[in-house]
Amino acid sequence: MAMVTETAEILTIAGKVFYGQNQARNLVTRSLATGRLAHAYLFRGPEGVGKQLFAKGLAAAVNCKESKGLNSCGVCPACIKFAADSHPDFVLVAPDKGVIKIGQIRELIKTLSFAPYEARMRVVLIEDVHTMRREAANSLLKTLEEPPENNLLILTADSAGNILQTIISRCQTIPFYALTIQETTEILQQQSREMDPGTATLLARLGEGSPGKALLFHRRNLVDICRQLITLLTDQDADGDKGVGRILQMAEAMAALKEDLPHLLGLVRLWIRDCLLGDFGFGIDQGFGTARKDWNKEQYFAKLQAVDRAEKELGRNCNRTLVCEVLLFQLNS
Ligand SMILES: [Zn+2]
Repeated sequence: MAMVTETAEILTIAGKVFYGQNQARNLVTRSLATGRLAHAYLFRGPEGVGKQLFAKGLAAAVNCKESKGLNSCGVCPACIKFAADSHPDFVLVAPDKGVIKIGQIRELIKTLSFAPYEARMRVVLIEDVHTMRREAANSLLKTLEEPPENNLLILTADSAGNILQTIISRCQTIPFYALTIQETTEILQQQSREMDPGTATLLARLGEGSPGKALLFHRRNLVDICRQLITLLTDQDADGDKGVGRILQMAEAMAALKEDLPHLLGLVRLWIRDCLLGDFGFGIDQGFGTARKDWNKEQYFAKLQAVDRAEKELGRNCNRTLVCEVLLFQLNS
């Protein structure tokens, strides 16, 4: 069997550079070159690393008359429609309230019984198949094994999710992986041109290799809130009554983040860790700038423990505002 080699060529999908996933790119490129595309693929990997985008790229590539491998021309009617999410032969099935239901699969099978409207190959993307119940999965098996002519099925699933063996055995699995911080940072800056490099780096670190997650954190303004928190903690004038008032205000702003609050705590933890590393002489700026707190080693570890405790309490549904108040007073002491 030939070795999978590094892909150096730049791949663009819907007008944007596609980063990472060299293994997926190589596997699919080789199948395209030899005309041996599978009829059903399972893209398996972490959330937010490009599975859906890659499926769209593949949809365009198999339908664009000028495509070279996975790179489609980007200007023909088929390419434009796939990029704009308006192609009538791109069918998306996504979980409805967290589950793919049998009714959705039945409807899909009906759609597939008709020929594609205009595409050479209709592409069906079924997202998060780990959310599919057994009866829905069973109703899909026959189609998965032998889709009607001119249909390509792409399933995606979370790497950690449970998928029925009967589904896996009928697809060719393509693994997707977390991206590097560098790749994630570049994607963030491509998506949002006004984002400063420091913010992009922090979001990339918090996203742990998932640009999708990092973008979600960006939309929730987590970095801004964390910077305000750091300003509060590093401000020499924040002692006394005025300081208490600001802490209570901050705690309320934090509590209002609700389910995003643990992610903010993740950022706070990164900041404390950066301060600690700075103390050991690793003074690399990883996005927080120079705002530092000169705690001693014991204090750093105590602060990290305070963050851990707050996280645990939130997991136990304790009062958010109270948890944040206690944490801020501990961080500020
Ligand atoms: Zn094209």
